[in-house]
Amino acid sequence: MQEGVTQIRGGEAMLETLEGTVCSYCELGRLDLRSYKGNDAAVCTECGVPAAQVW
Ligand SMILES: [Zn+2]
Repeated sequence: MQEGVTQIRGGEAMLETLEGTVCSYCELGRLDLRSYKGNDAAVCTECGVPAAQVW
């Protein structure tokens, strides 16, 4: 597990609220909903860091 990544159980609705928000890591990209390591996640379009993922 990557440190700092929010793990959400059953949080698809939470991911939708994160979509389009500014990345807190690089502050350049925005979060996009995509698959990350087999889970649904909100992933930065610039640095690729998942801000949150559902597992
Ligand atoms: Zn980023």
